[in-house]
Amino acid sequence: MLEARRIATRPLPVVRGLRFGDVAVAVAADALVRRAWALGRNTELVVPAAGGDLGTQFVFERELAKEGHDRSSVGDDEYEARAAAFAADRMAAAAEVFARLGVTVDVGAASTVADDAVAAARTAFVTLYEQGMVEQLDRVVATCPRCRTPVDGADVVEAEHEAELVTVRVETTGEGDEDEALEVVLAEVELLPGVVAVAVPDGHPLAGAGVGAVVPIAGREVPIVADPLRATPGFVVPAHDAEGHAIAQANGLSPIQVLDDDGVVCVDGPLVNLGRYAARQAARDLLAAEGAIVASEATVEQVGRCACCGTVLVPQLGRHWFLRSGDLEVAAADAVRHGDLVFQPPDARDAFLATAGIRREWCVSSRVEGGVSMPVAVCLDCGKLTVDATPSPSCGKCMGVLVGEGSSLDARFVAAAWALANAGWPRERDPSADTVVVVGEDDLAGWVLPSLALGLRLTAALPFAGVVVHPWPGDADVSAREADLFLDADPRVLRFALVAGTDDLDAAAAAVAALDSPSASASSDDGDDAVAAGLAALDDGAPGLAATLLASALGAGVPAAAADRLRALVLPILGD
Ligand SMILES: [Zn+2]
Ligand SMILES: [Zn+2]
Repeated sequence: MLEARRIATRPLPVVRGLRFGDVAVAVAADALVRRAWALGRNTELVVPAAGGDLGTQFVFERELAKEGHDRSSVGDDEYEARAAAFAADRMAAAAEVFARLGVTVDVGAASTVADDAVAAARTAFVTLYEQGMVEQLDRVVATCPRCRTPVDGADVVEAEHEAELVTVRVETTGEGDEDEALEVVLAEVELLPGVVAVAVPDGHPLAGAGVGAVVPIAGREVPIVADPLRATPGFVVPAHDAEGHAIAQANGLSPIQVLDDDGVVCVDGPLVNLGRYAARQAARDLLAAEGAIVASEATVEQVGRCACCGTVLVPQLGRHWFLRSGDLEVAAADAVRHGDLVFQPPDARDAFLATAGIRREWCVSSRVEGGVSMPVAVCLDCGKLTVDATPSPSCGKCMGVLVGEGSSLDARFVAAAWALANAGWPRERDPSADTVVVVGEDDLAGWVLPSLALGLRLTAALPFAGVVVHPWPGDADVSAREADLFLDADPRVLRFALVAGTDDLDAAAAAVAALDSPSASASSDDGDDAVAAGLAALDDGAPGLAATLLASALGAGVPAAAADRLRALVLPILGD
């Protein structure tokens, strides 16, 4: 592990705001670098800054809102200037935190939105497009009506909503058996104007019987179609439901968009211009007035909220760019299974392998201010799309004017491409740049896997030599005490705890106190054995284990005669 030329953390959200788990990863990486130095190696610490993501856009716009501004009130140029100033402030604040903790890094020297990383991300997209691994598809994806962008699954917070499950009677038409009544149960009654069919289970008497159904509120007649995956009848709303979209495609039915990008009803009729939940109440009242409600009961609806702004997400049909990530991930997992990528702790490898190939398609387009622009341009004259990392200003087909498509590359795709840029791609692979990365457990699926998948596909090599998974108990409880911990704790104590991967400062405080006030009665052998075990763990690339072993041994007392030597040995973890 420590032979690596470079030890890097995953890209950290220095502009969005560092959480304790982020700082822990950086301090753990710094401990490994300091140990490598102590062994006489020339190792470099790299802490890339993550940018161009939804979270960063959100915290900046929240600052802007505090001054009573938004993008439209300040204008594009002013917005960009303010965003840059905000980023510089946050970088300086992060640099202060790292300096206080003795992390030897130049914050901002590496970044996912630096020129080399942007070039790698755009080249990666273009190459994958040329290989047929990226294509534009019509899909229903979770969309934030406030941030106005598709939201990646990792940025969705599952939540529960009180709702009402309504059983609606649906009139049928045509020459079939007229007595056959249809009853459909649903909660999202505001979507009724977007119904294009009623799906019934295979073998249902109304399926294929030449019978139509009249959609309540909309008053339109729609076909009744068979769906083998269905146990009870249901409405097909292809514009806002992935399953409905598949059924509509199979039956040649055109979608009807109900909610626009702001989550407001955009289809003509009695609900037009109402927000989603106001429309739901209005639709409920209209159904009652029509006498269409057979029964109703209270229920709990599962919804997704935007992790950045908390708004309930709208499943929205749209045309986006998708990477066939499943194939790439499976190939990367095979390479890890047969190759020599070292994981620390070793069982992290199994946790990693379990995450590969779960996501078959990855929506790599988003709309984020400050994101890396998509290398896609569209011709104003003929509409032809051009995919090129450095596009020309005119269309190759008709010489018309090309303009950028307007969307940005998903920040996770850009962060994964950073790993390739770090290894010198697309210029040339730098063999001296072998990199060990220090990550949290969630990063195995969120960053390590896509980095390995892109690296293997595009450079025919894995971009890392080793992966250190640093433990952290989770940020939920810690962030509330963030200020207290940073302001009050002795930096050496805080650093010791962060390297150990714990928010319990007591053991770390006892270790530091023992080093500061050695005891004449403590036994020298015990201290030496413990330090030897701790350093061996550090040499294996296990900073968390090393700090835990050292903290418990030193906390039991440090013999006066050995205090200076122990202090020197513990220096990679304590900092200076
Ligand atoms: Zn949002
Ligand atoms: Zn053209």
